[in-house]
Amino acid sequence: MAYHISTRCQHLEGQNKEEHYGAISYPIYPSSAFIHQEVGGKNPYDYSRLQNPTRAQLEKVVASLEHGTDCIALSSGIAALACIMELFRPGDHILIDRDLYGGSIRYFREVNEKNGLQFSRVSLHEDGWEKEVKENTKAIFLESPTNPCMNVNDIEALGKFCKAHNLLLIVDNTFLSPYFQNPLDLGADIVLHSGTKFLSGHHDAIAGFIVVKDDALQERLRFLFKTTGAGLDAFDSWLILRGIKTLAIRMEKAQENSLKIAEFLEKHPKVKRVLYPGLPNHPGHELMKKQARGFGAMISFDVESGEEAKEILKRIQLIYFAESLGGTESLLTYPLTQTHADVPKEILAENGIYETTLRLSVGIEDVEDLVSDLKQALE
Ligand code: PLP
Repeated sequence: MAYHISTRCQHLEGQNKEEHYGAISYPIYPSSAFIHQEVGGKNPYDYSRLQNPTRAQLEKVVASLEHGTDCIALSSGIAALACIMELFRPGDHILIDRDLYGGSIRYFREVNEKNGLQFSRVSLHEDGWEKEVKENTKAIFLESPTNPCMNVNDIEALGKFCKAHNLLLIVDNTFLSPYFQNPLDLGADIVLHSGTKFLSGHHDAIAGFIVVKDDALQERLRFLFKTTGAGLDAFDSWLILRGIKTLAIRMEKAQENSLKIAEFLEKHPKVKRVLYPGLPNHPGHELMKKQARGFGAMISFDVESGEEAKEILKRIQLIYFAESLGGTESLLTYPLTQTHADVPKEILAENGIYETTLRLSVGIEDVEDLVSDLKQALE
């Protein structure tokens, strides 16, 4: 029987009632190695860098939520990105969307380019990027909505393009989580997550996921994963399993709060720009209605000056000034000195990230309290 996503978040995937004394909370196995009775025996576990029972349970849950056939859980979102990028060889060319998490841009520039990979930065939500495809192009990499400018990319159209041109489509689905969007269903080949964010949901674990639905890709990525060795440990795997149990209600509540906050910000005279795809006037609103089941809980906005932005970060009382997203507590981030600190200034300006830009990760507090906090900080 196919359960709805909110039921599947209770990690029923593969959980056998007869095993583990019927424990409802999946056990934590902090064992690095597993005993064998004989060569070629039945124990599927060998060594925890390769696989661990708690991690395997989490991987089954995330694969199911993302409609994939396999998921690999790693020690961070960036570890997941690093493992994916090992698919490519020196001389390979990759099209990357212009607006991306700063750490991904840093990884491409500082690690992959040094190792001979080539990149072209393109605006995938606008026309004209196709001319950047070259003979050695192997993949397209994007987020949707993007961090922090909230551009919405047409994943289905890009999936068709990639299929026709034999390219891999890699989608970082961190901002929406599998609760709101499943890129594999839209034609993506690989889905990446920072599991640190909405999947964990409590600002208490760092994790990353790679999800695929193709056997050959799965085999290659599993091989690279065991070779590069950044598996998620058993305790953090359990924390994320626990976080996912409330993914559905957290996402719904945070999204409900986000729309009210975006509407409040839009009307505020001191706010110059509000980027939230749930607002009907957002250029990606209609596309998101088509390709996702919601708009998420991330809002970027601009105030009058850089000084004012810094003052707001000092004045907020309930919302925390911190660099992350996707947890139950709301966080306000300053992309310029935090998430995008290592991105060259000219790229920031081109992408639309200014000293006036603030990024809000909306939590599940009472929305009136969040609005009051923003109101007093703005005024
Ligand atoms: N992708 C996105 C969209 C992110 O926002 C982040 C981190 O903020 C990452 C990837 C990297 O994830 P992690 O911090 O878990 O390594």
